[in-house]
Amino acid sequence: MQAQGMIVNGKMVNQSEGGKHIEVINPATEEVVGRVPVASEKEVDEAVQAAHRAFEKWANLSPFERARLLYKAASLVEERADQIGQILTAEEGKPLKEAISEVKGSAEVLRYFAEGGKRVFGEIIPLDKTYLQSVAIRQPLGVVVAITPWNYPVQLLAWKVAATLAAGCTVVAKPPSETPLSPLKFLECFLDAGFPEGVVNGVTGAGSVVGKGLILHPLARKVSFTGSTEAGKKVMEYCAQGVKRVTLELGGQCPLIVCADADLEKAVKSGVRRSFRNMGQVCNSINRIYVERSIYEAFVEQFVAETKQLRIGNGLVDPDVDLGPMVSLEALEKVREHIHDALQKGAKVLHGGQRPEGREYEKGYFFQPTVVVDVNHEMLIMKEETFGPAVGIMPFDDIPQVISWANGTRYGLAAYVYTSNLNKAQKICVGLECGNIGLNNVDVATIYAPYTGWKESGFGTDLGPEGIESYLEVKHIKIEFEK
Ligand code: NAD
Repeated sequence: MQAQGMIVNGKMVNQSEGGKHIEVINPATEEVVGRVPVASEKEVDEAVQAAHRAFEKWANLSPFERARLLYKAASLVEERADQIGQILTAEEGKPLKEAISEVKGSAEVLRYFAEGGKRVFGEIIPLDKTYLQSVAIRQPLGVVVAITPWNYPVQLLAWKVAATLAAGCTVVAKPPSETPLSPLKFLECFLDAGFPEGVVNGVTGAGSVVGKGLILHPLARKVSFTGSTEAGKKVMEYCAQGVKRVTLELGGQCPLIVCADADLEKAVKSGVRRSFRNMGQVCNSINRIYVERSIYEAFVEQFVAETKQLRIGNGLVDPDVDLGPMVSLEALEKVREHIHDALQKGAKVLHGGQRPEGREYEKGYFFQPTVVVDVNHEMLIMKEETFGPAVGIMPFDDIPQVISWANGTRYGLAAYVYTSNLNKAQKICVGLECGNIGLNNVDVATIYAPYTGWKESGFGTDLGPEGIESYLEVKHIKIEFEK
């Protein structure tokens, strides 16, 4: 069993003042695989105080010096990718090769923002008198609280920590209770890379207590939150009390639109992958698919055939499986509820809908990838975030209709469009109300471009050149020269 400490002021804390622990469960076996302390008020306060004390010195280092340390941490993350990946699979369930690639990708994010920190520019603004000039500079804003979910526990933390540190801010991270081990192991790399004490901290415990405590701490200046829309609304309320800066990367209910002129095979293959990867526990998973009526039957037939090929299993035992278990019984119950709701309202399950059969699935939160047809927009599966391996498919007749259906939820995170007609593509992409669109592809989250939500999927940006802006304040300096 892995006993993992929190990181406060450059030291590992294995026992909190309250002495409580969270037990971490392997969702493939339901066995306890580790434990972390539950932070008390004392550790929450100490972590924010430490980050506050470390801030001035860190902010005043040159971005080149900060980059040097970020590169060192990136090398350690990469060296430890196999070890951290094993822990990630053991606590989250995704196949080992996906876990290792998540960790390696996180090292790359550190390098990307190390360079980004060197490119934080200001502006010189001409004024209406020749002896006057305005200068706008950008400065790090202080202590950042980074709160993250369990589905990509290392990667999503890396997005925030990398940009925070490169900008010159210090950080207190609050990893999720389901998967706290791998993100804390990731944060340990910063200690071992020689980051000054207090610059990187990580405390664990319930979001509603430890997360809330961090956000409300008077010395915390910004909250970068990734998680559900419901929790995001609470986070925004807490932030309002101190007029704190906040970035919210929240839930999604993402459509895939397949036009009759699309490359059908490609649309099917990538549609299956983006619907079921990580057991559909991805914010930008495909939740519903609209297929132009003339190719609807062919698409559904091929989609079901492709889904049947997916291999399910314990990703630690067989690293080559396509799908692992879901993260928890609660997550699995939500999928069952959405499928039940759809069936009650007249839908038909063409594949899946239950636990896979066989002795290897008797323990663990396994579920079959599920394809549902005869769906409508009254069904939860077509309007709420299932966050699991279930997708609804329905036909559409024209472009205005499908755009209005695609926009018909409270979410606006991502959408996917398959067409070979440039004019159709342009109309659909402009019409969709969401922050990210994959046109003839399903991989919208890339380190190098902004990632953001619209509507109740949040606001503010992770990644891309804009990612670092979230951690900077603008300061205007007006200069008067001799007349
Ligand atoms: P969650 O909202 O339950 O928890 C996310 C984090 O917030 C956890 O660390 C949790 O402890 C903390 N938290 C919960 N309530 C809190 C509160 N009141 N105050 C402060 N912190 C609180 O979400 P989850 O179940 O861990 O993750 C799944 C959700 O995350 C899905 O809705 C998914 O769409 C979303 N998500 C969004 C993105 C994105 O980039 N938009 C990426 C991944 C996941």
